[in-house]
Amino acid sequence: MTTEVIVVGAGPTGLMLACELALAGVRPLIVERRTEPQRDSRALTLHPRSIELMDLRGLAPRFLAAGTTVPGWHFAGLETRLDFTALDSRHAYTLFIAQARTEALLAERAAELGVGILRGHRTVGVRQDPDGVEVDVVDVRNEHGPGGRRTLRAAYAVGCDGGRSLVRTAAGIGFPGTDETVTGVLGDFETVDRDDPGLRRAQARGVLVAPLEDGATRLVCLDPARMRVPSREPVTLEEFRTSLTDICGSDCGVGRPRWLSRFGNEARLAETYRAGRILLAGDAAHIHFPAGGQGLNTGLQDAANLGWRLAAEISGWAPPGLLDGYDAERRPVGAAVVENTGIQTLLAELVLVPQYARPAAALRGMLDGFLGTAEVNRILAEQVSALGTAYPARGPGADPLEGRRMPDIGLTAAGSAATRVYELTDRSRFLLLDLAGDEALPPAVAAGWSGRVEAVTVTGRDDHPELAGVTEVLVRPDGHVAWASRTGDRAGRRAERTRALTAWAGTPGTPD
Ligand SMILES: Cc1cc2nc3c(=O)[nH]c(=O)nc-3n(C[C@H](O)[C@H](O)[C@H](O)COP(=O)(O)OP(=O)(O)OC[C@H]3O[C@@H](n4cnc5c(N)ncnc54)[C@H](O)[C@@H]3O)c2cc1C
Repeated sequence: MTTEVIVVGAGPTGLMLACELALAGVRPLIVERRTEPQRDSRALTLHPRSIELMDLRGLAPRFLAAGTTVPGWHFAGLETRLDFTALDSRHAYTLFIAQARTEALLAERAAELGVGILRGHRTVGVRQDPDGVEVDVVDVRNEHGPGGRRTLRAAYAVGCDGGRSLVRTAAGIGFPGTDETVTGVLGDFETVDRDDPGLRRAQARGVLVAPLEDGATRLVCLDPARMRVPSREPVTLEEFRTSLTDICGSDCGVGRPRWLSRFGNEARLAETYRAGRILLAGDAAHIHFPAGGQGLNTGLQDAANLGWRLAAEISGWAPPGLLDGYDAERRPVGAAVVENTGIQTLLAELVLVPQYARPAAALRGMLDGFLGTAEVNRILAEQVSALGTAYPARGPGADPLEGRRMPDIGLTAAGSAATRVYELTDRSRFLLLDLAGDEALPPAVAAGWSGRVEAVTVTGRDDHPELAGVTEVLVRPDGHVAWASRTGDRAGRRAERTRALTAWAGTPGTPD
């Protein structure tokens, strides 16, 4: 079987993308330089929209069983928390789950879908021609031996190979942004004195303390005295202890570090997410300070946006511009994340700079007060949770629902046991929901777009303010609304529907 897409990198983005491609009927191969899955976890969070993505594919129970939910998150470490419980989602919480666990669950899913992962192979070159891409890989266990280097061929390559992406460089895509000015340190410790009063003081002074699933504890801190140390400089246990003692008067009894790391606020966004047959997703496309825990989440959402578009292109039915829509929709989201993490970093950094410490503390106090206002809290919570992500609607006169995420309303549907919308989306197809109960719809659609669109006649549904008066809705495979109609006139709706289906799901084929 020939590979259709080479995905470089088996991090969360690459694994998610490969699953999405396989689900849409395309054959991906993941190439990963590490011989074994990563054990240490940078990220610890899955925010609401990412959990919804898992729910769209029937994977939410696996993830929920492997993590712990918390009712909200923070912005810039401000004391008033972002209240996710007020958000319109069945998953109105953050899931605390180690990145290694997220990757393991996605790798398990990839295996179920028959995705191959070529571990222990470093990509060293990528080229494209009018018909496809060539990817040079080196077997890291046999670099200079016979057969240690080979060239793979596919129709497309996607760089999910992290911030230092070789694929991005090979494609000649620029990565403009700002250099690191601030660094923080993290440590996963097997021993921490939980009764040490310093630990409570540490949390009040901006040190993040998080229990890990195997009994270890993660501490993350920004030490004013050491925040200019370059991230390439290794962290020692002694340094960590000194920082904690300076910040909160105690080293909190930290010992037996399993992992110590320094990270910085270098922030960059790829000039484009697509250069011909080479695409970028995740950290390969955007890097920033890990404020608000958004990097991994953004990568998963990139993958969900790209998978079905690329599969449509490869399958030959993608309408013009569908694949370019990935860059058009996701680059602005990447830019917004780079911006909001920049704001959060500045708010944390300024209080540590002596000449700004007082006004910066006052500014933080003021913002804390603003966060107490439900509307302000909701705006930032929607941003960090990514539930507020809405893509531009197509053209004037578009329904306000278009581009937004489809609410997961409860429903009953003809010929289906599904009880809510997200139970109808596990196959990476467009979902055409006839909310007006027009019985003629499924055969009509099957005639033209079978295999691309699943048409469902809804016989009963929960009320939802955004869906009031909506008679029909076309949901994209990533759960965003492609088109919605509020007309009760069947003939008018039929014409609108045909236009929308052709614009999104391509020219209708010969009826089965
Ligand atoms: C301290 C810290 C805390 C964080 N906390 C959070 C958080 O709570 N929530 C959150 O959402 N994000 C968080 N992040 C960010 C998150 O870790 C990243 O955004 C995420 O790992 C990006 O996933 P990715 O798959 O795009 O890239 P990566 O995870 O970097 O994966 C890239 C993969 O590509 C492989 N690779 C690289 N080069 C090659 C090559 N040439 N050939 C073959 N394979 C290659 C690598 O080995 C790796 O497996 C944090 C980051 C840091 C530093």
